[in-house]
Amino acid sequence: SAELERAESLILEIPDYPSAGILFRDITPLLADGPAFRATVDALIAPFRGTFDAIAGLEARGFLLASAAAYASGTGLMPIRKSGKLPRPAAGVGYSLEYGIAEVEAHADFPRGSRVLVIDDVLATGGTLAAAHEVLRMLDYEVAGTAVLFEIDDLGGRDAVGDPRLHTVFRS
Ligand code: IMP
Repeated sequence: SAELERAESLILEIPDYPSAGILFRDITPLLADGPAFRATVDALIAPFRGTFDAIAGLEARGFLLASAAAYASGTGLMPIRKSGKLPRPAAGVGYSLEYGIAEVEAHADFPRGSRVLVIDDVLATGGTLAAAHEVLRMLDYEVAGTAVLFEIDDLGGRDAVGDPRLHTVFRS
């Protein structure tokens, strides 16, 4: 739609951030625009209508999209956090980054067997989303699908995630 095309134009490309050679996609101007934000969140969840019971969002920008999507769809929200931030014992999965390792963690506050739609802002190598899926499986949830605002499509992320229902609104 015209609104989505306008939304796409609000994603900035920042060279050499956070380090040399990286082209960082900055979605902040899109979030700042009410109609663009609403159209983008609607487009994120549209293919999954009726197929999920709950939404999980990845820290930190994924939280912004996932909470809007959960409100719009009337479902609950699970924050999948970076390690060491949850107050109760949590399921955790480690994964490797370009330099070093990271871990994501979550609590099991949805009913067992819930169908969970996973949301993040940017898909790069796919390591973060693959780890998120693993956490959901450890907690006995079903991955209903994966929705990402922007897919960087030359890093192999789609294959690394391995979800046939991966849906991305914009891509490079
Ligand atoms: P991946 O694990 O390599 O796919 O990286 C995805 C994670 O890193 C997501 O949680 C993103 O928020 C973040 N990320 C990677 N590249 C970018 C970018 O260009 N803009 C914003 N976030 C990014």
